[in-house]
Amino acid sequence: MKKLLRIICLLVLAASCGNRGGWTAREKAVISQSDSVMYVCTMPVDSAILRASSIDLGADELRSAELQTLIAKMLKTVTDPSQDGVGIAAPQVGINRRIVCVMRYDKPGRPFEAYVNIHIDSLTGPIVHGPEGCLSLPGMRGIVPRSSTAHISYLTPEGTPVSEQVDGYSAIIFQHECDHLDGILYTDRADSVFVE
Ligand code: ZN
Repeated sequence: MKKLLRIICLLVLAASCGNRGGWTAREKAVISQSDSVMYVCTMPVDSAILRASSIDLGADELRSAELQTLIAKMLKTVTDPSQDGVGIAAPQVGINRRIVCVMRYDKPGRPFEAYVNIHIDSLTGPIVHGPEGCLSLPGMRGIVPRSSTAHISYLTPEGTPVSEQVDGYSAIIFQHECDHLDGILYTDRADSVFVE
């Protein structure tokens, strides 16, 4: 009987743990408190966030309204004239989750798109050395070696799993943004860095 009770207790505990997922209180506050244009983390003041590794979203976060709000605000932020970037990663707005927005230079009309739980599966093609800047390192640029082709896997904002090959400048933006999810900044990889 005691054993049975212990098993029931463990099952109840496991079920409650399973329901405890979702956004943290801090993440919810960041997503809800900001205006449509979010605060952008910069070095060195926000290094704790920018240097941390980001985690995938779980089932609870994937079906949440907060995810859609966060994506809308990230898109609004990166396209705002005050930022005018070609990509942004969630850590840059204070959320250590694997979400990036990328301007797709390889698609007609160059749309900005959001990618959830994104991972680079492999990098191929010749290495190219090109200029990069970062919203989190204002006033600086650097020459960075990158692979010309990226093979990526992700979920669309609607939750559809996709794997695709991206070439050219878009592939470089994906590498830059996915680096943010691992706490890596372009200056870590740059051949040279200079003040604009
Ligand atoms: Zn950046």
